[in-house]
Amino acid sequence: MAEGYIFDIKKFALHDGPGIRTTIFLKGCPLRCLWCHNPESQVLIPQNYHLTNGAITPIGKKRSVKQIVQEIEKDIIFYDESHGGITISGGEPLHQPEFLLELVRNIKELDLNIALDTTGYDPWDKIEPLLPYIDNFLYDLKFIDSFLHKVNTGVDNALILSNLQKLFNYKQNVNIRIPIIPSITDTKENLSQIRDFLVQLGQDPPINLLPYNELGIHKYEQLDWEYQLLQIKPPSEEEMKQIQSYFQEKFTQVAIGG
Ligand code: SF4
Repeated sequence: MAEGYIFDIKKFALHDGPGIRTTIFLKGCPLRCLWCHNPESQVLIPQNYHLTNGAITPIGKKRSVKQIVQEIEKDIIFYDESHGGITISGGEPLHQPEFLLELVRNIKELDLNIALDTTGYDPWDKIEPLLPYIDNFLYDLKFIDSFLHKVNTGVDNALILSNLQKLFNYKQNVNIRIPIIPSITDTKENLSQIRDFLVQLGQDPPINLLPYNELGIHKYEQLDWEYQLLQIKPPSEEEMKQIQSYFQEKFTQVAIGG
């Protein structure tokens, strides 16, 4: 059975889809978002992490699909009672496509709801085989302007935008997740471009506005990496509400957080 790299399994998660969920975090991501609060997810293979007491611990481990499914099975009663399920997150889960496909196939055999948290940066032929198994795509949308996308995440967004359009064409359930990073993604121009892009797709998806947080900063120190956004502070509640109202002018389900 396929093996892949994961860096965490979080049980009883309440924010990554409906009901009580177990979130499986796959390692590896082709993006380098300046604000990434899971920098330990970016490199595919396990790496060292310096703890505050001076000890060094490896982050990430190789696990088989079978091992993960056994872990999931222990909590099946909670998923059933809360209409919850499994969320696959990262990193970018599509970065390990064969492992991901086998994982979701096996989870679906347990008849569980599956959400995939993705930034959609992979060729469509890696995404299409997943469609029969994924109940809900949690899809990150950061910029419409490809230059800004490249400067702030390290990659162009052409694939991301075309894959999103295809998911809608295939009538998939998609939640749009927009990170609100002050002075980076929260500019009037960027938010209006995102809103116009979604309007032009003719869709009314649930939208989650995810306020920037500083929870990941200490991880950069532990990895011996430089954090470039130290000057940026989380957006105020008022700013988040203004952005929410702006999206509510065009869409019916717009939530802060989630
Ligand atoms: S896509 Fe997610 S995991 Fe990858 S760098 Fe950006 S924030 Fe981090």
